[in-house]
Amino acid sequence: MTSRNPSLSVVVPIFNEESVLPLLARRLRPVLDGLGEPYEVVAVDDGSTDASPVVLAGLRRGWPQLRVVRLRRNSGHQAALTAGLFRARGGYVASIDADLQDPPEVLVEMLTLARERALDIVYGVRSDRSTDSTFKRSTAGLYYRLVRRLVGNTVPAQAGDFRLLSRATVEALRELPERRPVLRLVVPWLGFPSAEVPYVREQRAAGSTKYSLSRMVRLATDSITSFSAAPLRVATGLGVGGMLLCALMVVFAFVAYLRDSTVAGWASLYVAILFLGAVQLLCLGLLGEYVGRIYAAVQGRPSYFVSSDTDDLFVSSDAAD
Ligand code: UDP
Ligand code: MG
Repeated sequence: MTSRNPSLSVVVPIFNEESVLPLLARRLRPVLDGLGEPYEVVAVDDGSTDASPVVLAGLRRGWPQLRVVRLRRNSGHQAALTAGLFRARGGYVASIDADLQDPPEVLVEMLTLARERALDIVYGVRSDRSTDSTFKRSTAGLYYRLVRRLVGNTVPAQAGDFRLLSRATVEALRELPERRPVLRLVVPWLGFPSAEVPYVREQRAAGSTKYSLSRMVRLATDSITSFSAAPLRVATGLGVGGMLLCALMVVFAFVAYLRDSTVAGWASLYVAILFLGAVQLLCLGLLGEYVGRIYAAVQGRPSYFVSSDTDDLFVSSDAAD
């Protein structure tokens, strides 16, 4: 059983990472043992369908600080992180990917920095992503440029979900009514004093990425629509632009009529109809994204269900999240 009041909790979201887990334990444990303070590792099993639960159970036998929170179904990286964050008990709560792309040694640096300078948030910022694929690097670059433009420069560029939060920050997050927060945007928005620690992004230790293209698109859409109504203004802009274009077409059609060459206008008419149709569909889609978010918020369904928590086998469950 883990300590009731650890100084540090480390949240690790896990989805089908059977091959990575032993490597993670081998590398993370010495770092945390070396702190000489009570800690807990909150492994959030995000509904893995491989042998991850078995591997975790095996690791737990020799590592009492390891706590396993199992989600009933695969709920996604952000939901798994949130679940771990809200169940962690540490004075500081860090989050780290299971695949060792974020070096565990940096956790010590983050903790020391937070204590020395009384900071609430320390971000791990990837100073070098040469191990990531070109596709991943360019889409990530685009993502950070876009969110920093729409959300504001408080969002550190290249800061993923490798970070350390104080208890106060976690409690502030918990008080937000949002069910599906995009943590890397909401955390900076809270406005706590923060600092950045640069680190080199390593290669995935084993297994393959769990972030498919569709999940990346989902994260980007969630990031933008949860923080900014700017896309709706784009829709308005397109509407205005379309109207101006139509006004020009009217003048063109009138001139063509005066010159008795109306049939020649067929192509431009066709193009205009297509263009307007496209603009309307785009605007509908944009509106739909926001309506979808309102719908989800009104339904108020939790973004994850915890089916078991190894700590609850020993102590009564905390209030359901
Ligand atoms: N992950 C998760 N649930 C998911 C997808 C991913 O908990 O539905 C975890 C995954 O096990 C890993 C972390 O999120 O610990 C980051 O995923 P991954 O390394 O596949 O993403 P990438 O580094 O390729 O962006
Ligand atoms: Mg990874």
